[in-house]
Parts: sequence; C-alpha cells; structure tokens
Amino acid sequence: MKSGWLMVDSISTFVVSRPYVRPFGISSGTSDVLTSLIVEVVAGDRTGIGEAAPMTAYTGETLDGVKCAVEDYLTPALVGQKLNGAGDAHVIMDKALRGQHLAKAAIDIALHDLIANVSGLPVHALLGGAGRDSVAIAWVIGLGDIDDIVKEAVAHADQGFGHIKVKGGEDPARDLSLVCALREALPETIEISLDANEGYSRSSAFSILEKMDRAGLSVIEQPLARWDLRGMAELRQQLRMQVMADESVQSIHDALAVIRSDAADIINIKILKVGGLHRARQIAGMAEAAGIAIKIGSMPELGVATLAALHLAASTPNASVAADLIGPLMVKDEPFAPDLVSDGRHGWLRTPMTPGLGHQLMHSIGKVLE
Ligand SMILES: [Mg+2]
Repeated sequence: MKSGWLMVDSISTFVVSRPYVRPFGISSGTSDVLTSLIVEVVAGDRTGIGEAAPMTAYTGETLDGVKCAVEDYLTPALVGQKLNGAGDAHVIMDKALRGQHLAKAAIDIALHDLIANVSGLPVHALLGGAGRDSVAIAWVIGLGDIDDIVKEAVAHADQGFGHIKVKGGEDPARDLSLVCALREALPETIEISLDANEGYSRSSAFSILEKMDRAGLSVIEQPLARWDLRGMAELRQQLRMQVMADESVQSIHDALAVIRSDAADIINIKILKVGGLHRARQIAGMAEAAGIAIKIGSMPELGVATLAALHLAASTPNASVAADLIGPLMVKDEPFAPDLVSDGRHGWLRTPMTPGLGHQLMHSIGKVLE
C-alpha cells in the first residue's frame, strides 16, 4: 500500500433543489427546478464540499445514478485510502467505476476544497494560481420568444455583460432571425454566440451559418452531432466565425480527438462533464499546446460547482472566452454563493482569495437542510 498524507474518513451526499427564476429551456427540454447532489468529503477534522447537477438529456447521467455511483461505488473505493491529492483519487475512482463523470467531479471538487482548506490557500492555487483578478462571464438565455430574448439581452448588455449567449438548434430559420434581431439591438462591441446543442444537420448547417456569419454571429457552439468532427472541421474552414466544441469533449480522449481533427477554435470545458477540476486542467493544457482557446462552461448548477469553475477560469491562461458561470443567478434563493449572485450582475466575477472554494459552505449546508 502506498503512503499518503490524506485519509478519507467518510463521504456523504445531500440533495438540494432551487426553482429557476424562469423555466430554462434548451433543445432537449425545459426544466422548472435546478436539482444538485452536494457531496461532503471528510478527512480527520477537515471537510470539503463538491457538487454534481445532472442534466440528464445532456450527459445521460441521472440524479439517482450519480447518487448511487458516489455512495455504492466511489465511497467504498476511497474511504480508508491514503491519498496525496485529487489526481491520485482519480486513479482509484477510474479503477472502481468506468465513466460517471458527474459523480467523480463532485468528489474531485470536494477534495480540491478540502486540500485547499488544509493548506490555507484558495483552490486556484492548486490549479497553478489565478492569473486574473476577475473573470468575464457571458449572459446565457435559453430558448424562447425572440422579442423576449432580445429584451433580456439588451438589459444585460446595459448592465455590463460583454457577451450574450443564446440557445438554438431546433429551427435554423428561427435561429437566424434571432441572431439578426440581436445584432440589430445590441452595440457592436457585444459578442454574440449561439449554442445549437448538436441541433443542425451536416447538409444544412453551412448555408444557415454562412448567413449568420454575415449577420455578425461571433461564435457557433456545437453546431453538429458530437461525433461529427470532420463536419465541424469543414465548417471551421468555410466560416469566419469561431466554432466551439462542447458535447464533443467529455473526456481527455475526446479533447485529443478534437485537436487531431482540427474540429474547433474553442473548447468548452465544464467541470462536471469532464469529471472534475483535475481532468479539466489536463484538457486545458492540451488545448493550450494546440493553440485552442477555452470557454469555462457550466451546466445549470448551484454555487459550489460554480465557484470551482470560477477558480478554474481564473487560473487557466487560455480561458480567453467569457465563461458561462451564471447558474446561481438563474435560481431563486441560491444557498451556497450569495456573494456571487450580487457580484455577477455586471458581467464579471471576482476571483476568490479566501481558503478553499471561498465561502462558508458548512454554514450554508446547515441552512439548506434545516
Ligand atoms: Mg453548450
């Protein structure tokens, strides 16, 4: 048995739900409530907290499945083990259970929080250290009526958001109308991106995107099916706008395939999708070497995962695209990161400089479970 300075004593889970301010719709469905699994890792008198918010149509993982993966597979594998860091835990987790990135991400985030707490340092210090005092965030608007979306986009651009991201993929003609309406309503300096969530067909994507190119769309996110890397590479060559891979990159192996295929200008890294901060750092490093920019994205998620993503965005040199870290702003009574909610109104989030993820999580959990 190897030596290690950290012994995991216990891992426990809590389910926390919060209603959306407005129902959130993407091409795979609409939700009224954001539900997350909070994971607490205890080692001696130290605690770390992680979060996994399953978006089932997107990753194929359910709340019950993530809970089962944590409680019945990953917890028995990790408890009593001596660890030297979060990367060390991934070796054990991958041996115990294939896939299940959300469950592994929740534990990975908790371990980073715990180790940073032990060190008295912010989590970003474990990720190479923050190169930014604040992180630009995009305002993300789900599917809906074009007039309502334009009004919401203009209101947030007025508040200071420099990047508006909208959802599409169900109806290319409607998406083109939306892009044209947004470009007309927003100042030229505001970047617009559209996330098609794999919704376009290879045969029709070029003709519609060429029109969006002329209308002033800056970025198209995941226009084609996640496995169609050749199609994405062809679009990249034909279009002026940048092409982003999101669903195409769910692991370090996917990232390598995208890089080898020249399929993206930008990779969207979501901590939960790729299995945690450790994996996210590996993907960001591969992208940096290949000259690919990073967007730190998110599922709709509460403050714990959002804070983890904020530490990652602040410490990833090539994370030059506005991050999608607005989960806490999308729900009522966000319990874990109330400061983020008030800071995020103007399109920027401050890099946390306090130990761990950066807020009083234990206090929050007590309040949430009351
Ligand atoms: Mg996306």
